[in-house]
Amino acid sequence: MKVLIVDDSPDALALAKARLGKEGLELVCAEGGKAGLAAARRERPDLILLDVDMPDMSGFEVCQALKADIELCMIPIIFLSGSGGAEDKVKGLNIGAVDYVTKPFDAFELRARVNAALRTKHMQDLLIEYAKIDPLTGLANRRGLMERLAEEWARLQRHGGKLSFIMSDVDHFKRINDTHGHTFGDRALQAVAGAIAAQCRQSDLPARYGGEEFAIVVPGAQADAAAMLAERCRLAVEAVQLDAGSDTVAVTVSFGVADADNADSPETLIRHADEALYRAKNAGRNRVEISSEDANALTSGKATP
Ligand SMILES: [Mg+2]
Repeated sequence: MKVLIVDDSPDALALAKARLGKEGLELVCAEGGKAGLAAARRERPDLILLDVDMPDMSGFEVCQALKADIELCMIPIIFLSGSGGAEDKVKGLNIGAVDYVTKPFDAFELRARVNAALRTKHMQDLLIEYAKIDPLTGLANRRGLMERLAEEWARLQRHGGKLSFIMSDVDHFKRINDTHGHTFGDRALQAVAGAIAAQCRQSDLPARYGGEEFAIVVPGAQADAAAMLAERCRLAVEAVQLDAGSDTVAVTVSFGVADADNADSPETLIRHADEALYRAKNAGRNRVEISSEDANALTSGKATP
């Protein structure tokens, strides 16, 4: 794990670095408050050791800036200070630090406090990851999907490129549940998830959108290429035979595909894929349809290859 040490004194930095050197941590140093803030943005450390008394920007000010930044506010901060006064300790903890160490620090105490803060940070990271995973299928859940879609959308705005979105829905899922029971329905969802995930590239994000709906974020692809991925997923799901005791049951999925070329927001992109999915359902299910806007653009040659 990565620890950022911020202090205006090069000697203090060298000392803290030496004290923590044997802990197997990646140590990054920044001299002064402003440099510390910049290093936090650049390095995304797991923990910050922050000197309170610095001439350019105090540790308290750095801490407040970090806590106000949505990207950095979850990084734990331990204050280092020459003042052992209760007032400073209280202030440091009140503005969001997890701990406070008084200089000159005892090496064992510093290591123990750093390790305790890192343990908590590790648990916090795990919980954040778990919060984005659908427990039934192990795929990303709606939260993970929307976060990734927002990231890809932002990347597209900055750097251009291609992005597609696939929306899918298990055909006649209610009938499967009613006929074979919900436990079987769960197994069907797991099998569909596995078949879809196996077709995706590393850069794609397959997700459970909700209920019996699955979605895939497909970076670097226009609707025609994404439709080929959807078709591979459709065939993979169709090939799955689920054991229902006395017989085997086949499950099929319908897919709608849209790309970002004709969408002005992630919401529009999802809506276009949804519209294509409805057409796939109405045209008899177990098929792939491209959003009408994207299909027109592709056939008229308006879409850039
Ligand atoms: Mg200082």
